[in-house]
Order: sequence, then C-alpha cells, then structure tokens
Amino acid sequence: MTATLKNWIGGEWIESSASAYENVYNPATEEIVARVPLSPAGDVDTAVRAAKQAFATWSRTPVPRRARILFKYQQLLVKHWEELARLITKENGKSYGEAYGEVLRGIECVEFAAGAPNLLMGKQLPDIASNLESGMYRYPIGVVGGITPFNFPMMVPCWMFPLAIACGNAFVLKPSERTPLLANRLAELIHEAGLPAGVLNIVHGAHDVVNGLLEHPGIQAISFVGSQPVAEYVYKTGAANGKRVQALAGAKNHSIVLPDADLDLAVKEILNAAFGSAGERCMACAVVVAVGSIGDELVNRLSAAADAITIGNGQSEGVFLGPIIRSSHKERTLGYIASGEQEGGVLIRDGRKDEAAGQTGYFVGPTIFDHVSCEMKIWKDEIFAPVLSVMRADSLEEAIEIANRSEFANGACLFTDSGSSVRQFRETIDAGMLGINLGVPAPMAFFPFSGWKKSFYGDLHANGTDGVEFYTRKKMMTARW
Ligand code: NAD
Repeated sequence: MTATLKNWIGGEWIESSASAYENVYNPATEEIVARVPLSPAGDVDTAVRAAKQAFATWSRTPVPRRARILFKYQQLLVKHWEELARLITKENGKSYGEAYGEVLRGIECVEFAAGAPNLLMGKQLPDIASNLESGMYRYPIGVVGGITPFNFPMMVPCWMFPLAIACGNAFVLKPSERTPLLANRLAELIHEAGLPAGVLNIVHGAHDVVNGLLEHPGIQAISFVGSQPVAEYVYKTGAANGKRVQALAGAKNHSIVLPDADLDLAVKEILNAAFGSAGERCMACAVVVAVGSIGDELVNRLSAAADAITIGNGQSEGVFLGPIIRSSHKERTLGYIASGEQEGGVLIRDGRKDEAAGQTGYFVGPTIFDHVSCEMKIWKDEIFAPVLSVMRADSLEEAIEIANRSEFANGACLFTDSGSSVRQFRETIDAGMLGINLGVPAPMAFFPFSGWKKSFYGDLHANGTDGVEFYTRKKMMTARW
C-alpha cells in the first residue's frame, strides 16, 4: 500500500481534509513512493492557528534555549545524514553524492541559526544627545510561511525555517508536492531535538496552500523559492495582502571562458555545473560564452567529457547524471531541444539518444548546442534540465554584454587567470552570485544569497544577516534618565 502523507500540525500528524491527491514518484524508476494530499486553505488555517498559539510562548523563550534546540537538531541531522541523502535521491533523482552535499548545505543553515544569541543582539548609543541614550532591540515578526521548490528538498527549507524559528517566529512550511518526503523527516527530527509543538508546521499541497498562506491574516511574512512566474505572483499577492515577502526565482546562468583560462579546470567545472543534478539547480550553468580563439577546443572538450558521464539511478555507485523530475518536464525539455535545432543552434551532443535503453525513468542525457544566439528560445528561457548552450564572443566586454541581456541574473562565472579581467567582470556583470574559476557559486548559510533582476523579488535576500533582518522587526528606544 502506498503511504498517504499527512500534514504536521501542532506537533502531530493530522490527516489532510484534501479531496485530491497527487502521486510522488521516484523519477529514476517511475515507482510511486507516496501520495501527497492537495490540502485546501482550511488546513492552512488550522496550521496557522497552531503556529500562533505556539508563537506566544516560543517568541518569549530565552534565545540561548532556542539555540540549544538547534544545536541538538544539528547533531540529529549529522546522525541521519545518509538516510536523508538517500531520501533526497529517492524523491528528487539527483545522485547520492549530490544529495549528500545538499544535506551538508542544510546542516550549515542550522549551524548558522544556532548562533542566534549573537545574531539577535541589538545596538546602543549611550549619548545620542546630551543625557539621552538610544538602543535598538530585535523581535520576531510572528508566523512565517515558507513555499519551496522540488530541486533542493532539504537545503531550501533549511534556508528558511531554522533561522526563522531561531529568531523566535513560528513557521508553516509548504514543501514542493513533487518532493514532500524529506520535509516530513526534517519536522520529525527537529521535534526529537525538543522543538515545542506548533513552532514548525507542514501543510502539503499546491496552489490552494500557497494562496491560503498568501491570503491568511495570521501570516506576517512569506519566504518563497521557485520559478519566476510563481515568484512574481507570490511577491505581488503577498505584498497586496500586507506581508513581507522574499521570493527567489528562476535563473539562466552564464559562464564566460577567457583564452587564458585553465581549460582542464573550466571543462570539469562547467560539466558539473551544467549536468550535475541533471541541470535542475538554480545555480546551474546554462550558457557558456567562449571568448576569442578557444571556442572550438572548449566545445570539443566539453562534448568528449559529456560522453564519459555515467547516467542512471542516482542510488547506484558512480552515477553522475540522474533523471529529471517528471515525464512532463522531460517532454518540455525535448521540446526545447527540438526548438534549438529549428532555430539554428548546432547540436553538438544530443542527449535524446542517451535514454538508458530498456530503463524506466525520466532520463535526458547531456545535451550541448553550439553557436547559440540571443534570439533563440534555448538562450532566453530557463530550461532547467541538462541542456547547455555555447555562444561565442570576441572580447570579455562582449561576453558580459551577452550575459547582461538575459532577464535573469542569479549567478555568473568567469574562467581566467587575469586579475584585471576578474575586476572588470565583477564591476560590470549583472548577477548576485559570482564565481571565479568555479562552476557553481553555491549559496552559503553565512552570507546572503542574492539574485538580481527577474531572479529575485523583494529586498532582503535569504540566509546570512539578510535572513536575520527578514525574520525580525526592530524597536528603537530613546531614554532620558
Ligand atoms: P515552481 O515555481 O513550479 O514551484 C515552487 C513552489 O510553488 C512549489 O511549492 C509549488 O507547489 C508552488 N507553485 C507552483 N505553481 C504555482 C502556482 N501557479 N500558484 C501557486 N503556487 C504554485 O518551481 P519548481 O519547478 O518546484 O522549482 C524549480 C524552479 O525554482 C526553477 O525555476 C529554479 O530556478 C527555481 N529555484 C530558484 C532558486 C533560487 O535560489 N533563486 C533555488 C531553487 C530553485
């Protein structure tokens, strides 16, 4: 019997009042691993009530005591590292190695949040005027809603709830309906660590839960991560309902390779960034811009390296490229490959032939287009699959100009040996996350994670001190004694 997931509300598993359900698949085997309820807005209301009740006590719980629960949580996550990584691979499809790394990224978020006693300190000025002192104090904001995508079932929820609750808030999480299993395990473990009932709640579902959160008067703020159209919708609707919103959106990340780059390094890094996690990373490399004379050699080397990639079930030893998330996403990806050919892209490596003969699962092999232009759909749109476009430019300036024409601006990388080129890149590229001689400038818990343009809606980014600002509000007190 396939398990039907329940919602986690007030410290208990509660059956959803949903009338519709969706299957959760293992994308490598097409096996149904669970059924997820598409909960109605009424279930959101139940969760918000539980969260509000818990907030009354949790927000006044001494900060070091809150932090101690996070220290315990960190230990439990370390203890269950392998189990969590296997679960990520099972529901998302990425390789076990990638999943193991994702668990680390999540653990780091908990470690950062456990620094709450430092992070939440205020500031004072003893003599703001004669005989007057002034001080700033931080407070939680209330109940926060979190909406997460399928591609990082552990890391993205961990950008949100550990820091939000460390700051004294209560949280209602809506995980992706395509990868809902890991979130349940995260909730169980944090309660094992001693988190009081109702501080973290999970409501499973899709649009109705999102709208329930956006419209609920008991929710003060929304953290969203997902695709661009939904991010824009969440930002506008949340703001119209008087909520603080941070909405991290889609991407089309460019890697520029200069003639003085270490090509062995560039090929290895770009290969990982373009095809690791099946291209389903918001920091994936989607476009390479080869500058000057190195274009042909770079393309030949990328193509040869892509031929050596092992494709298969991410649970198997040595597999690098797992499946993409669903058959519908595979159809969409194949549509982009066909459109790239029609629009004149030169198909150097065709991943459609790698369908892992006789194997089930939603596989697309590494695909490389050369001589792509800014007029083509494969350059404009986020494909979110193992499809890499290569473009040519005569200079770094022209390469940056190409990257800056994209409406997205999440990340960008440069491969070079030249300090002055790095400076020119840093000063003129439109992107929030920059990488030098690496393929994935990954978000780290300790720094704000920042996209620009249509890759981000809001002002305060996720993680780091921006996260602390987002999940707190301030009081200023000026005093005369
Ligand atoms: P998605 O936008 O389809 O879904 C994200 C969340 O929104 C899910 O919880 C989903 O249930 C909900 N949702 C989807 N459609 C909705 C609608 N019409 N109305 C209300 N809610 C809706 O994204 P996805 O496919 O799960 O994830 C991939 C996307 O996320 C990519 O675009 C990727 O770039 C982006 N992403 C961005 C970052 C970042 O940091 N910028 C990180 C990870 C993923």
